[in-house]
Amino acid sequence: MNTKEIRGFQSETKQILNIMINSLYSNKEIFLRELISNASDAIDKLKFLILSKPELYKYNNDFCIMISFNKQDRSITIDDNGIGMSYNEVINNLGTIAKSGTKEFIKLKELENNKLNNSNLVGHFGVGFYSSFIVANKVVVHTKSFNDVNGVLWESDGKDKYTIDYLDKPNHGTKVILYLKDNEEEFLDYWRLKNIVNKYSDHIQLPIKLQHYDNKNNNIWKQVNQAKAIWTRNKIDIKDNEYIEFYKHITGDHNNPLYWQHSFIEGKQEYTILLYIPSKFIYNPWRNEQKSGLKLYVKRIFIMDNVNSFLPNYLRFIKGIIDSNDLPLNVSREILQENKIINKIKSSITKKVLIMLEKLAKNDEDKYKIFWKQFGLILKEGIAEDFKNKKLLSNLLRFSHTNSSDQYDYMSLNMYVNCMKQEQDKIYYIIASSYDSAKYSPHIEILKKNNIIVLLLFDTVDEWMMNYINDFNGKKFHLSSKEDDLINKYADAENRIIHLTDPVESSNNLIYRVKNYLGDKVADVKFTKKLVTSPVVLVNEDNSVTTQMAKLLKNTGQSVPKIKYVLLINYKHSLINKMSCVKEDNEFNKWVELLFGQALLMESNYLDNPGIFIKVINQLLI
Ligand code: ADP
Ligand code: MG
Repeated sequence: MNTKEIRGFQSETKQILNIMINSLYSNKEIFLRELISNASDAIDKLKFLILSKPELYKYNNDFCIMISFNKQDRSITIDDNGIGMSYNEVINNLGTIAKSGTKEFIKLKELENNKLNNSNLVGHFGVGFYSSFIVANKVVVHTKSFNDVNGVLWESDGKDKYTIDYLDKPNHGTKVILYLKDNEEEFLDYWRLKNIVNKYSDHIQLPIKLQHYDNKNNNIWKQVNQAKAIWTRNKIDIKDNEYIEFYKHITGDHNNPLYWQHSFIEGKQEYTILLYIPSKFIYNPWRNEQKSGLKLYVKRIFIMDNVNSFLPNYLRFIKGIIDSNDLPLNVSREILQENKIINKIKSSITKKVLIMLEKLAKNDEDKYKIFWKQFGLILKEGIAEDFKNKKLLSNLLRFSHTNSSDQYDYMSLNMYVNCMKQEQDKIYYIIASSYDSAKYSPHIEILKKNNIIVLLLFDTVDEWMMNYINDFNGKKFHLSSKEDDLINKYADAENRIIHLTDPVESSNNLIYRVKNYLGDKVADVKFTKKLVTSPVVLVNEDNSVTTQMAKLLKNTGQSVPKIKYVLLINYKHSLINKMSCVKEDNEFNKWVELLFGQALLMESNYLDNPGIFIKVINQLLI
């Protein structure tokens, strides 16, 4: 019976392979790392199965990965006795590349068209099985699922199709045979292969055996790795490079991690953690899953992936492993979720991570800055969610501020408090929709003029976060659009300098005319002494929804009533002076339209009707 089937890859496979092969070519040896990593995963999966259902398993195997090469047919073989794959699993796992589908692929292509550096591009995610085609022009897979009768044969040249067939295979597991392209003979060499294994895969917990020929041309197998879980080794014996390769193995991220922490915790609960901060948010367009959580081991045995119970949600960017000496081997996700011991471990790990971040911030400002740019937004959630660690968390916060023209020249709250002026007793901040609109907010003019540093907040979560933090080291936070004694003092002083005569008499008329035109578009119109260079500004009525909060609500799909602002007018401003001299109402209203429009733009970056605004500007300019 002929069971051989020819099947096509998804249409985008060929292009993806092309991008990948070209971009990784300078680092082509990583194909071996990827295949060893898959073999090790497959053995881990089987070991775990046996653990929970020993009756399923009738073999008596030493688990290991065996690598051999053949100079005659120019092939390299990676053989494992892991879980193997069934016919359908082969189709699903090896027949589809870019499981995440066309959307991400289009993004990839756009990047490619923009001639961005492809190696960076590929550097963002694991490449996996298909990296074989960097060095091979034909890949053959023999596999047998551990509880199947039939083996499966898969074969492809990595172009647009593959063939699949049944096969007699005595043992379970997977054998991947690469037929090398011309000019790739360098890999048909014991030392070259050993070198690659040591470089990338020393941390693999299973013996990796390499075929070797002795003097008499006898075939012998030599174990070339340490086969010891990296986290069980003594810290001082582990090289940075080993930590880094282990990180890449467990995350599929091809960037180096930013920082890591390896500790053994003794006491009532004994466990080891090896935790990493990635240098970039790991987003993997080849695979459509957003994973978070730690890999859980119990007494060195892999139990499960992506366990979220050991870290709070706001630390979901942390990667790594936890190996417990006390949890039962048959621990389930359900048990993990509602277990007192787990909660204790969680709070201790949380604290450890926060202290690790504090250490990073102290010892390496540049790295911490990279961290903050990537993950600050997520960490901020902690202020609202983790009351217990608020102090630690608020030490970790960083802000753009008015004392620097560089958005990324961050300031900590500690720094802020140390830079406070003598007469200042509050931490001033402003919330806006972007860095620039915060920086140029009219609300902070008077503070800037008096050399009071203002923290600039413009992340979507900022206003929400600020609801949960009232003070830092005894200093209260103050939103700069609200008045307070110091702001009023500065405002009064400002007015004395320019010897302004009391505006009340003539200007009440001004207020009346402005209100008359704007009608119910505003809640009120008032004079302010607070502005320095801007003629007008909008403020919220007390207790009304703020602009940023309205945006946040809108983004989450909730309906928000139109905000009515109070329009504050800077009566010392020459534009206002000029406007108050305009007697003719029609002409006067154009001024009001102009000023109200610019105040709205400043506040929300948005106008309901830009057409009218522009028309009025043009008319006034003429
Ligand atoms: P990843 O390892 O990130 O899932 P790969 O492209 O490396 O992606 O592998 C795709 C899938 O193919 C794996 O998830 C696994 O299910 C399957 N696979 C690959 N190699 C093996 C193997 N040696 N044994 C069993 N399954 C394998
Ligand atoms: Mg893989």
